Amino acid sequence: MLYNGPKCRLCRREGKKLFLKGERCNTQKCAFLRKPDVPGKYGKNAFGKKTEYHSQLRAKQAGKRAFNLTEKQFKKYYDEANRRTGNTGENFIRLLETRLDNAIYRAGFAKSRNQARQLVGHGFFRVNGKRANTASIQVKTGDKIEVKKIDSPIFAGIAKQKDISPKWLKVDLAKLTAEVIGIPEFMECEQIDTQTIVEFYSR
Ligand code: SF4
Repeated sequence: MLYNGPKCRLCRREGKKLFLKGERCNTQKCAFLRKPDVPGKYGKNAFGKKTEYHSQLRAKQAGKRAFNLTEKQFKKYYDEANRRTGNTGENFIRLLETRLDNAIYRAGFAKSRNQARQLVGHGFFRVNGKRANTASIQVKTGDKIEVKKIDSPIFAGIAKQKDISPKWLKVDLAKLTAEVIGIPEFMECEQIDTQTIVEFYSR
C-alpha cells in the first residue's frame, strides 16, 4: 500500500532528503534540516545492531520512497531490470526515471513526483498527442509530452523558471512541452543505491 502519512517523516526515517514536498524541500523549512533524527520513541536506537540486511533494507526503502512507489511496484521494476540484458542496477534506475510522472517532474512541470502523479491522473498531459493519465507509462526516445491545459494556474510561473531538466529531455518551459531525446545517463538519475537494492532483491 502507498504510504499516505507525513512525507518529511520518511526523509528523517531514511536519514536523507528525499525531496518529496517540492519547493519546501529547498528551504530552511525542510524538516530534515531542523530535525534530522530518526522519528519515533526510540529514535536512532530503534533498530539496534546494524546488519548487512538492515543496510540493504534501508537502501531499498529509500529508493522506493523517493519514487513514491509501493513494494509491489518497486519490485516489478527490479524484476524487469533483471530480465533485461546489461547491468541490472542501471536498467532498474532507467526504468524508474522513464516513468511518465518522473519525466514530468524532471521536466519541471511539477514540483514533486507526487504532484506529477496527481496531475497525470487528472488528465493534464498528453503523450504524442494522446491523453495520458497513467503515471507508470514508460516514455521512450521520440516521445513528446505536452501539457493539455496550458493556461491552468497550476503551471503559472513555470515559463520563468530556470531549465534544470536532464539531457535526455528537451524541454520548452514556455510552451510546456518536453521531448525525450535519449536515455537517462546513470549520473543524472536519482541517486539511489541501486547496487545495494539489487543485492537486497537477489538475496
Ligand atoms: Fe524531505 Fe522535503 Fe520534508 Fe525536507 S521538506 S524532510 S526534503 S520531504
